[in-house]
Amino acid sequence: MFWGFLVLTVATAIIAIDVDVIGLFLGRPDLQFWNGAFYQGYSLIVDVFSIGFVSGLVYLGWRRRNPPLKLSYDRVDREEGGYDRKGYSIDDRAFLFVLLFIAITGFLLEGFRIAAVDFPSFEIFSIAGWTIGQAVSFLGVDGAETARVLFWWTHALAALTFIAFIPYSKAMHMVTDVIGLLVTDQDSARALPEPVGAPSDDLLSLFTWKDLVDHDACTKCGRCHDVCPARATGAPLSPRDLILDLRELADASSGIDLWYGPGAEPNTTTGAVAGDYIAAETLWACTTCMACMEVCPVGIEHVPTIVQMRRQLVEVGDVEAGLQTAFQSLTRAGNSFGKSAKQRARWTKGLDQEIKDARSEPVEYLWFVGDHASFDPRATEVSTSVARLLSHAEVDFGLLYEAEKNSGNDVRRAGEEGLFEMLREQNLEALASAEYSQIITTDPHSLNTLRYEYELEGTVIHYTELLDRLVADGSLAVSGLSGIATYHDPCYLGRYQDEYEAPRRLIHATGLDLHEMGRCRENSFCCGAGGGRIWMDDSGLEERPSENRIREAVALGDNVRYFVVACPKDMVMYSDAVKTTGHEDRLQVVDVAQLVERAMTGVPVG
Ligand code: SF4
Ligand code: SF4
Repeated sequence: MFWGFLVLTVATAIIAIDVDVIGLFLGRPDLQFWNGAFYQGYSLIVDVFSIGFVSGLVYLGWRRRNPPLKLSYDRVDREEGGYDRKGYSIDDRAFLFVLLFIAITGFLLEGFRIAAVDFPSFEIFSIAGWTIGQAVSFLGVDGAETARVLFWWTHALAALTFIAFIPYSKAMHMVTDVIGLLVTDQDSARALPEPVGAPSDDLLSLFTWKDLVDHDACTKCGRCHDVCPARATGAPLSPRDLILDLRELADASSGIDLWYGPGAEPNTTTGAVAGDYIAAETLWACTTCMACMEVCPVGIEHVPTIVQMRRQLVEVGDVEAGLQTAFQSLTRAGNSFGKSAKQRARWTKGLDQEIKDARSEPVEYLWFVGDHASFDPRATEVSTSVARLLSHAEVDFGLLYEAEKNSGNDVRRAGEEGLFEMLREQNLEALASAEYSQIITTDPHSLNTLRYEYELEGTVIHYTELLDRLVADGSLAVSGLSGIATYHDPCYLGRYQDEYEAPRRLIHATGLDLHEMGRCRENSFCCGAGGGRIWMDDSGLEERPSENRIREAVALGDNVRYFVVACPKDMVMYSDAVKTTGHEDRLQVVDVAQLVERAMTGVPVG
C-alpha cells in the first residue's frame, strides 16, 4: 500500500509536469516526454503498483472485519464502556474507503480513456486500464468518452477531498511520520534525555516538541500493544494507548477538537499529566524493555516518555512502596539490598584464590559485578562460576570491592534522577581510583548505563563477550555436554546492546543443541524485572512476565531441559518462575557461565 501510494503520487506528478507545466504553461510540446517507450514503461509500472495498492486496501478492509489483537481498540486500563473509541474505527474506515474510491475511479478513468480512443496497441502496457476497457467494450457500454470525463472529475475531486481530509484524519501520519522518523533518536532509551518541566508546570511543558511530534506520528498500528509484556500479563499499560492518550491531551490542551477523537479532559486544576491524566499504575507497570520502540514503524520513543512522567511521580512522592524501600536502601547503602558495603564481595569468600582489588593494583579487566550478582544467593553462584572461569583462563582481573555501588540504571528508569546522579558520581570516582584496560560486567543493566550514561562506550563489555573470546582462543577448552537448551535474550543485552551471538556461540560450544523460542532476539519477551520493576509488587498481575516466558519455553517440548540466561536478574526471576509455574523438575534455569564451567570440567548438566 505504501509503495503503491508513493508510485501513484509520483505518477500523477509526472503527468502534471508533462501536460500542465511543459505542455500548457510553457507551451513546449517538443519537450514533452510522457510518450513512446517512457509512456509504455510508465503505464506498466503504474498499473502493477496500482493493482498492489488496491489489493492491499482490500486485504486491510477484510482484516479489519475481524481485527487481530493489535488492531483491537479494547483498553487494558479501563472497564468496558468506560471509554469511547468509535471515532477511531470510523476514521480508519473513512481512510480506507477514500483511498479505495480514488484507486477504483482511477482504474475506471483509464479503462474508459483507452476504450474511447479504440484501443491503440501501445495501451496494452496499461494492463489494468486495458482489461477494464475491454470489459466495458465487451459489455457494450456506450459513451466511453462521456464516462471518461465523468470519472476524470470524480477521481480528481476525490483526490482533492483526500488532500483536504489529511489534517483531520489518521492520514496526517503520512506527514508526521516523515518528521518523526527524521528526528527520532533510537538511543534515547539507552541514554535517557535530561528531565524537562516540573509537576506544577502547565500540561505540555512536560514534553519537548519532539515528543509531541512522536505522539502525532502514531499510526495506531498496535504493534507495540501486541508485544508489550506489561499488557500481555494484565498490567494496566498499553504503549499504544499511552501515546494516544498523550496525543488527545495535547490536542485538548491546544484547543484542537478532532471529530474522530474521544477528546481528552485534562485536569486543569492540578495540571498533572503523570498520576492524574495518565494513572501512576500505568506508568509503574513499564519494564523499560524497549520492545515497543523496537517494533514501532515510525520511531516513537515510548521509554523516555514514560520515564519522563515517572520523574514527575517521584517528585511529588507518588512512588510504589517497594520502590520507595529500594530508593532508601540505595541512598543509605549504595545497593538495593540495603546491605553494608563491606558485604558486597562476600560471595568471593568461597573461591580458592583472592580476587585482586583494582583500587590498589592495576588489572587488565575491572569487573563491575552489579547488585544482584553480588548479593542475591541465586546470582552469586553465577558470579563464582565467572570468577573460576576467568582464573582458569589466567585473566588478570579485579574488583572495586566496597567502592562499587549500584550503577543506577534501574534507578534512573524508575525516575529518581537525583539518586542516579549520586550513584554515578560515586562509581565514577571509584573507577577513577583504579587502573584497568577494560571493564567487564555481569549485569546487562549496568552494561547499558556504564556504556551510555557514564559515557564509557568502548571500554565496557559483557562477560559473555569475554568468555566467548576465551573459548575461541582456546583459553577455555569446552565440549562434551549433551541435551537441548533454549536461550532467553535479556532485553538489556539484546535490544539495548545488540548482543545476540556471543551467548549463543557459547551454548553451541558446550555441545548443547539450541532450540529457539518463538520470541527471541529483537523480539525477546521481558522477564519483568527492568525499569525498577524488580523492586515493585507484581502480585496483582494475571501472570508474571517471567511465568509467561517459562510457559513459552516449556511449550517447546519435553526434550528442552535447560533455560539458559545471561543476566543475574533473569536468574532470580526465572528461578522463581519455574517454581511458581510448577516446572522446576522439567526445566533447569542455568546461566551461560555455569554451562561453560560444566562443559570445561566435564560435570554433566543437572
Ligand atoms: S518498554 Fe516494554 S513494558 Fe514498557 S511500554 Fe514498552 S513494551 Fe511495554
Ligand atoms: S507501534 Fe508505534 S505507530 Fe504503532 S501503535 Fe505503537 S506507537 Fe503507534
